[in-house]
Parts: sequence; structure tokens; C-alpha cells
Amino acid sequence: MKQRPTPGMGTSSVWAGEEKSLIQNATQVPVVHSVSFGYKDVDQWLDVALGKQKGHIYGRNTNPTVEVFENKICRLEKGQAATSASTGMGIISSILFGLLKPGQRVVSVKDTYGGTNKIFTEFLPRIHVETVLCDTTDHEAIETEIEKGCDLVYLETPTNPTIKILDLARLARAGKKAGGVVVVDNTFATPINQSPLALGADLVLHSATKFLGGHADALGGVVCGREDLVKQVYHYREINGATLDPMSAYLLLRGMKTLALRIERQNQNALQIARFLESHPKIEKVFYPGLSSHPGHEIAKKQMKGFGGMLSFTLKQDSFKAVGQVLAHLTYAHCAANLGSVETIAGPPATTSHVECTREERKAMGIPESLIRYSTGIEDVEDLIGDLDLALSTLG
Ligand SMILES: *Cc1c(COP(=O)(O)O)cnc(C)c1O
Repeated sequence: MKQRPTPGMGTSSVWAGEEKSLIQNATQVPVVHSVSFGYKDVDQWLDVALGKQKGHIYGRNTNPTVEVFENKICRLEKGQAATSASTGMGIISSILFGLLKPGQRVVSVKDTYGGTNKIFTEFLPRIHVETVLCDTTDHEAIETEIEKGCDLVYLETPTNPTIKILDLARLARAGKKAGGVVVVDNTFATPINQSPLALGADLVLHSATKFLGGHADALGGVVCGREDLVKQVYHYREINGATLDPMSAYLLLRGMKTLALRIERQNQNALQIARFLESHPKIEKVFYPGLSSHPGHEIAKKQMKGFGGMLSFTLKQDSFKAVGQVLAHLTYAHCAANLGSVETIAGPPATTSHVECTREERKAMGIPESLIRYSTGIEDVEDLIGDLDLALSTLG
């Protein structure tokens, strides 16, 4: 018989990880709501409890539907193992608290997701873990901090909300050389556009709430990569109890059937919108790695298959009032805090990713008052461009 070639990402989005879970000729993954799993044979029960035999015991630990979701991610990210959590922050905190010990040192960047930044600045110091947050655009400074010694390198690219790009291969190499575990938040790029494990990372994580689910109707988080590390993260998560709900796992799986299709469309739409905005007289600056004017364009071209659905832009009228006016006139965009859905979503960092910061703090972080974050949906791009053009025309 001929050898079956490795399937592409579109095929894997649809099929991967589901085979063994199908029961009674069902073609779709069952949602197993059962909290516990019973055993007549106590020896078998003990073997499952000790991990000598595969199986489930209690829903806080593992669940068949959740397991399928983890398997699919494993196949898409091409990692050894995966484990999940109830939210993106649930998995990020399980990674950091599951792997780090007092006295250790983390090197990361200033532009990580707001909640992640809170763990670095507020919670890790409590357990005496030092965190150094470097300028996201200064790779040499990041490397210098890594070389000083680090136990964990935490990266995120593209970043939120100014869409900066980190060179993953370069920083993963530095992290490994220093003996650190390299962790990458791949939420903005998705496995369709970027493969951090292939670029040298040990762990890749997602807020599945965003592009993976893609329909803004389920929260979830997942990490994939080196099995020994995933086991440690799982061990912390099974105890802290931030378990992914089986119904959410099903909704995420359902959403992921169209992951490759959606991301392809979002890549195309976002690039066209970024080009349109860049030439618009009311726009000051556009942040999108697909534009040759973007400082991270060359790195993005090297490490990404598509530039993603996320972009942001500033208005020539640099005021929060002008932002409100533009947003109020958009028909095809939810003005909301989430991102990565089939619908376009827009909002200012002041109400979304950087809601905890003061105006001065945002300014210090290089986030302008008139910045609008735009998560491109799968609508017809002509409609989205027309909508933006109309909304911008209301500015004086
Ligand atoms: C939303 C988000 C998170 C947190 O995910 P939740 O599911 O909201 O907990 C982490 N990282 C990035 C890049 C995100 O956009």
C-alpha cells in the first residue's frame, strides 16, 4: 500500500484528533457531561488512577470531549502533548505557577497580554520569582537579559494592541542556550499562520476563546509541546481546578473545523484593509505586519505563513472622542473586548486590552489615545472597507 502523506492544515482542522472518540457510528464528537467515570474492577480503576492504563476518573482531571480538543491542538501545533484550561488566563497561570519556583527568573517583554502582565508584575513577585520585562522592539536587550540567566523565556507575537513582531527562532535559540524553557503565546497568529514549536519553542499556548473557537461563544485555553513540561502544567491545573468544560470543548472543536478557512479569509481581508487605511487621509498610522512599512515585516515574512486578522490604527485627530465617533458609525463591527471571531470587532485599548492602565501609563507604553484595534472578520472585504470609509468620513 502507498504511504499516506501528512495531511495539510485544512484537512487537520476538520479531521485531526477525533477518530477514537466517535461512538455508536456517530460522525461527530460526543459531549460527555458525566462528572465521574465508574469502574467495577478496582484493579483497573487503580491502574487508571496511577496512569498505567488510559481512561478517565473525575471530570476536574480529564474528560473525553476535552481530550479530543487537546488532541486536535497537538496535531495542528505538531507537539508531543497538550493540556487545556477553562480560559487563556487559566492556562497561562497554570504554566507559570506550574513550572516556576521561588528564586527563579523570567525574561519577557512589556507588550504581553494585560492579564499575563499582571501575573508578572503582581503575582510572581509574591512567590519570589523575578520577572524582567524588556522593550519588545529591542531584540539585543532581550538577548542580553536572557544571557544573564533565565529559567523561563515568555514570548508573544504579534503583540496586543500595537502588533509588534518578535523573532521567535532567534529568541528561542538564546533561551535554550541559557537553559530556560521557552514559552510562546500564539493566540494572534494561530497554528495556521505560525508554528512556534518548529521555530524552537518548548511550549506554545492559546487563548482558544479567540481565533481557535472563532465564534465568541466559548472560553478556553490550551498549551502544547514537550511532554514533561505539559505534565507539570497539567498537574498544577488539575489541582487549581480551572478545567475546560466539556460543552465549551465541543464548541471550540466545532469552531476549529473551519479554522484554516477562516484564517485564510481573515489574512486576506486584514491585508486589504491595512492597505486601504494606510492610504486614507484621515489615518495617521497603521500597524499590520503584512505592510512593508511595518518594522517587523521582514521577520514576519520569515516566520509567518499569513500575517493574521489583527491590525490597529491611529487617527490624525488624536483624541478619544474621535475614536468614539468612528466606532459609533461602524455597522459591521461589534465594539467589544474580544477578538478573533467571524464577525469584525473593534475597540480602543482603553476599554479592552489595557483597561487597567491610566492614560499616562498607556502613553508610557507607546499606546496612542486614538488607537483602534481591529479584529478582521470573515465578511466581504468590500463591505468592511466601505464601512470604515463611511465612518472615517464623519470626522471633521
Ligand atoms: C485573550 C487573550 C489571552 C487571555 O485569554 P482568555 O481566554 O481571555 O483568558 C491571552 N493572550 C492573548 C494574546 C489574548 O488575546
